[in-house]
Amino acid sequence: MIIELKNSVNEARAQEIARELKAICVKHEARFVLVTSSSVKEADKRFEAETDRVVVLGDDMQLSSRKYRNEVREIRIGNTVIGGGTNHTMLIGGPCSVESEEQIEQGAQLMKELGISTLRAGAYKPRTSPYTFQGLGLEGLKLLAKMREKYGLNVITEVRDATHIEDVIEHADIIQIGAKSMYDHGILRRCGKTMKPVLLKRGFGTTLQEFVQCAEFILSGGNPNVILCERGIRTFETKTRFTLDLCGAAYLKEYTNLPLVLDPSHAIGYAYGVPDLARACTAMGCDGLLIEVHPDPSVAKSDASQQLNHDQFRALTGSLKKVAEAIGRKIV
Ligand code: PEP
Ligand code: MN
Repeated sequence: MIIELKNSVNEARAQEIARELKAICVKHEARFVLVTSSSVKEADKRFEAETDRVVVLGDDMQLSSRKYRNEVREIRIGNTVIGGGTNHTMLIGGPCSVESEEQIEQGAQLMKELGISTLRAGAYKPRTSPYTFQGLGLEGLKLLAKMREKYGLNVITEVRDATHIEDVIEHADIIQIGAKSMYDHGILRRCGKTMKPVLLKRGFGTTLQEFVQCAEFILSGGNPNVILCERGIRTFETKTRFTLDLCGAAYLKEYTNLPLVLDPSHAIGYAYGVPDLARACTAMGCDGLLIEVHPDPSVAKSDASQQLNHDQFRALTGSLKKVAEAIGRKIV
């Protein structure tokens, strides 16, 4: 249950009521909002006079629910916004990993050339094997920050574990929580205590309920700026790396108030399929698209098979604009 207290209720009183109700107290704009377990179905009459609105929910998808807030949240990211009434699909492009200054600068220049606001690349890579490239770490973060300054781009990069979370929060415009870290409560709770936008990727073995509940940890921690990302789930299929769950995407669009980014690159795992999938995602009206692109994918240090080259990315951007236009949206 969500209880929106009146604006006149101060923090000390809101905390007192929260203790009584065993609720989490979140500050939302000018008011305090209390969230109890969704198993609570009836409001406590003692606090009626201090309450503005009570929302009873069927499960623990609460702050993220359309039943609580009917419109998609609009989240500011540096000089742009995602979600809300924007009617645009924000393209996020860049290599899987920051590999060198020259390589990430080529990525930054490509985004600038195409008028794309947000550059992605990992500095801390959660690799499947410990014997492969693990990322440049802090040096990679600094290179991303340099690209932000030089080219006026927003940067998104992944936090792999709690050991470097402060550095990622400091350097990134959007903090990415990867599929393998989706359940990391140290990361989720820390991300609830910053106001920086967080892109939460769905774990490849998690249900939609589990995914959204992880987002609830960030929202109920006090950070309203959460973006969901579907990046493929594991199914019986082995010909593709994962299976992009567009049914899940439709569900998240219908039932949650969080902007939705789709990531066809990690889903299929092969560059050949990325343009078709990206067009399908755009036609669905997703709020954002995450696409991996590398100056020379054949020598990429991670995710080599799925990255587009720069010419393929240019061609894709052109075709995405047409698809977006056909449904009254824009690619930004
Ligand atoms: C990535 O974005 O490069 C990445 C590692 O993604 P995921 O967490 O979806 O595997
Ligand atoms: Mn990758």
